[in-house]
Amino acid sequence: MNPFAYSRVDAPDAAIHALLQNAKFLGGGTNLVDLMKYGVERPSTLVDINHIGLDKVQADANGATIGALVRNSDLANDPGIVANYPLLSHALLSGASAQLRNRATTGGNLMQRTRCYYFMDTAFPACNKRKPGSGCAALKGFNRIHAILGQSDEGSTSPHTCIATNPSDMNVALYALDAKVEVHGPKGKRTIPVRDFHRLPGDHPEQDTLLRPDELILSVTLPAAKFAKNSWYLKARDRQSYAFALVSVAAGLEMDGDRIKTAGLALGGVAHKPWRSAEAEHALEGKPATEETFEKAADAALAGAKGYEHNAFKVELAKQCVVRALMQASKGVQAS
Ligand SMILES: Cc1cc2nc3c(=O)[nH]c(=O)nc-3n(C[C@H](O)[C@H](O)[C@H](O)COP(=O)(O)OP(=O)(O)OC[C@H]3O[C@@H](n4cnc5c(N)ncnc54)[C@H](O)[C@@H]3O)c2cc1C
Repeated sequence: MNPFAYSRVDAPDAAIHALLQNAKFLGGGTNLVDLMKYGVERPSTLVDINHIGLDKVQADANGATIGALVRNSDLANDPGIVANYPLLSHALLSGASAQLRNRATTGGNLMQRTRCYYFMDTAFPACNKRKPGSGCAALKGFNRIHAILGQSDEGSTSPHTCIATNPSDMNVALYALDAKVEVHGPKGKRTIPVRDFHRLPGDHPEQDTLLRPDELILSVTLPAAKFAKNSWYLKARDRQSYAFALVSVAAGLEMDGDRIKTAGLALGGVAHKPWRSAEAEHALEGKPATEETFEKAADAALAGAKGYEHNAFKVELAKQCVVRALMQASKGVQAS
């Protein structure tokens, strides 16, 4: 691990001022410190933001405000979240382990980096995300966990290919729920809809998000709860616990009798960012909640999907997961 300085701050303004060149915020440290040990991240200074406040959740049926330092366990078990946003609670509880969730923060989870083997291991020279212009070893390598949607590969116009995925469970639920991210930097505060917060790789796979290097995430907000009665988080993975998603689906339905009034649908493990398909949601809205409707939505969500040597199975797996999650959501919510 490279030498680095450590600085502890006690307020958001102090955190922003402390962010010198090549410094990074330290939340729970469960991702950043690992990457520093592997030599992938080399910040000159860690700015410890664990004592700046921003650790409260306010949630009811009219909306929610979640501080950036709220731990994943606290968020998943908050009574207002469990009652009104069960989709978020279940997505969080499907992630990592109890110990990790006790430490991991909302801001850190939003910002966690890909688990692509070639990104995380500096012994592999080619990774456009770690070292722009070096290539993408995953394209012809072991690409079981990689993207099937929105990627930059040989068929795209980008010279900087990347088929990495966003590994978060929480983020997938936040996309289906239409969350917003409140951020603060030297130029002031701004609000970024979460669906615009993460990037597709395009020409700059090294940039995961639209957050500027000098900005702090303050909070995440949720609109009024529409899916408290009908939602489901489905995670397909190699082990039942302590494993990242091969494919995950966050499905929320607002029902009007047997018909779907509005829908929120997002997929994880399939792209550089959680994949929200307006076409799939359109295929659901106003339609009866039947398997046929859900299959049409799944086809719309996976339109244009493309697999590689080791992950072509994900295209069909994702369709099946979409149908299953929607079927379950149409019946109710997961038990707490
Ligand atoms: C073994 C293992 C298994 C895991 N399994 C899963 C899983 O199944 N599903 C899943 O979703 N996740 C999983 N995770 C990932 C885990 O959820 C993340 O490591 C965690 O959410 C990161 O949060 P943190 O607070 O520890 O972030 P940190 O490691 O502290 O920070 C991560 C990044 O976010 C930045 N950051 C933190 N807070 C802010 C802020 N307020 N503003 C701006 N930038 C900020 C940091 O500078 C850093 O760049 C797993 C992790 C491990 C180690």
